[in-house]
Amino acid sequence: MKDAKHQEPAGKAGKWTIPGYGLLQGLFVSGRNMVESYYKKERCPVIQYPEEKADISPNFRNFPFLCYDGDRPETGLRCTACGICEKECPPQCIYIVMDRDENGKAKKRPKVFDIDISVCMNCGICAEVCPFDSIYMDGQYEMATDDRFEKLVLGLDRLAKSTDYHMQLRPKEATAVMEKRKAAEEKKKAAAAARAAKAKAAAEKKAKEAKEQAEKNADDAKGGTE
Ligand code: SF4
Ligand code: SF4
Repeated sequence: MKDAKHQEPAGKAGKWTIPGYGLLQGLFVSGRNMVESYYKKERCPVIQYPEEKADISPNFRNFPFLCYDGDRPETGLRCTACGICEKECPPQCIYIVMDRDENGKAKKRPKVFDIDISVCMNCGICAEVCPFDSIYMDGQYEMATDDRFEKLVLGLDRLAKSTDYHMQLRPKEATAVMEKRKAAEEKKKAAAAARAAKAKAAAEKKAKEAKEQAEKNADDAKGGTE
């Protein structure tokens, strides 16, 4: 037991503090910020929106978009309409219809891809589960409208955005994806080349064996007639 003489000192740092000292410190910081806000830009984060716009953080995410390679979404869309994002979306605000040819065969691309952004909760799960590097979270935030259906249900025309857009929005993420895709493409090409070389070697071996057999048969036939 500690007697009154040896009691632990009060205060955060183990020292006695003056009552109201923390309050005075807070007031001092607020006052300094207020005065400095007149001549130091970093002390005045208020901007004149919408004339001025703040730089958004690369980690800011709003609604999803679909990425396409090359110049045209019609040919470069990465989405294969696999439907994984549609299944995983918690509020079920993604709607996909697979594009099909005249025989009903899947073209592995979406004919319809809609996202109802009035329902989307910006969770980013669709972007996490997509196995084809197709869907990412956008940073666009000026989307307010009073048109519930025409403007808040985004179709392919508004969702499809180029890889350049992705690169501008999140350079680090886009570069990592590009490198991953390039490595996968090179691996695929190397595997195809190895398969072709193997098939060629097998065909050459087979042709050689057939030729040798033919020559042997010819020799046998010749020996029989002599
Ligand atoms: S961000 Fe979330 S809620 Fe919005 S479409 Fe993707 S999975 Fe659905
Ligand atoms: S965005 Fe990705 S997960 Fe969603 S349907 Fe397209 S390929 Fe599949």
